[in-house]
Amino acid sequence: MRVVTKELTITSKRRREVINITSHIESAVRESGIRNGIALVFLPHATAGLFANEDEPRIRRDYEGLFERLVPASGNYEHNKIDNNADAHLLASLFKQFYVLPVINGELMRGTWQEVFLADFDGPRTRNVVVVIIGE
Ligand code: ZN
Repeated sequence: MRVVTKELTITSKRRREVINITSHIESAVRESGIRNGIALVFLPHATAGLFANEDEPRIRRDYEGLFERLVPASGNYEHNKIDNNADAHLLASLFKQFYVLPVINGELMRGTWQEVFLADFDGPRTRNVVVVIIGE
């Protein structure tokens, strides 16, 4: 069994933004040379999350509407007394900070409409994504 770790750097341009990172993960898997196993995608951040879904312009706007309905950007949040990003922390806690995908015959396995997104809730900023590919 082999373990290969790759670090990705993803930069958001807006405060709340969903970024399709699938091609970056696929490149990391290809570069690892591992043909069969799993890819663990880990996001070491408290104000961003991961999810997998369809990438289509209208549903991207729907995600943004969903975020606002779940946790409005402006609100009377306690954490804003020390750091003006309570909504970002709360949204991040509703999403995942890790994702595991199978690697089969050198390819990342995912559904036809399943793209992996990084959702930044407190951009613009640069985020690190750690991809650990485990297998042989
Ligand atoms: Zn904070």
